[in-house]
Amino acid sequence: MPELPEVETVRRGLAPVMEGAKIVAVEAHRLDLRWPLPKDFARRLTGRRVEHLGRRAKYLLAALDDGEVLVMHLGMSGSFRIAHVTSDKTPGEFHHPRGKAGTHDHVVFHMSSGATVTFNDPRRFGAMLLVRGDKLAQDKLIRALGPEPLDAAFTAAVLAAACASKKTSLKAALSDQRVVAGLGNIYVCEALHRAHLSPRRMAAILSRRNAPTEAARSLVKAIRQVLSAAIKAGGSSLRNYVKADGELGDFQHRFRVYDREGAPCPTPRCKGKVRRIVQAGRSTFYCPVCQR
Ligand SMILES: [Zn+2]
Repeated sequence: MPELPEVETVRRGLAPVMEGAKIVAVEAHRLDLRWPLPKDFARRLTGRRVEHLGRRAKYLLAALDDGEVLVMHLGMSGSFRIAHVTSDKTPGEFHHPRGKAGTHDHVVFHMSSGATVTFNDPRRFGAMLLVRGDKLAQDKLIRALGPEPLDAAFTAAVLAAACASKKTSLKAALSDQRVVAGLGNIYVCEALHRAHLSPRRMAAILSRRNAPTEAARSLVKAIRQVLSAAIKAGGSSLRNYVKADGELGDFQHRFRVYDREGAPCPTPRCKGKVRRIVQAGRSTFYCPVCQR
């Protein structure tokens, strides 16, 4: 499942062909993804200009010139593909000929920029919704989300306050989208390793007498570092995830502990080996020697 860095990579891939461009035509081949497409989906989008392509947690948010926001989620297996007219000399010739991957191409946007943006999703856990811009913050998908981990508002004090009375592990707390938005199994494991904190420690250790502890400070720093590095690397390409421009990301080679059971711990001078345990039904990877 794509995590925040992958979604941000997709956003950055789509922005140049969508922002400022008009949606000239929409093909909706499947009317049901995770949920049914909104009523009159193609008609409501046709002729609209995309004013801004933003992101909240793992939702892509295309703000339209009529005040509506096209909310898009990749689900488990969703991806976007961009095709361009190759050059002025060969109009109509595409890098990715249409029909090539047809079966799971559920939605196609034809943009005035000359690009087509195709949403492909074999498992159909992805979503496309239309929400009024002024109602977005109150939408049931958005309103419960915690702070964006890369925003300045996500501080050690904020994280500590959210965890102070939690009776769960650090792993469970960081996976909770109300505590911090957009983190999943991979980056929770990676951030805890960088912060040298055991995923089994109680989340409440981040707060002491209503103030953030040193652990909270190093964890916030680690979360920012691991996400920034992943975005820089272009997101991971686990399973069938592909970047918006059709290229695979390469971040999976850089995981320090995730999916590396038995490998030597990458912390300098640590003699530990990466261990896998199961927490709340999900694999956790960590080093029992340098993560305490
Ligand atoms: Zn270690």
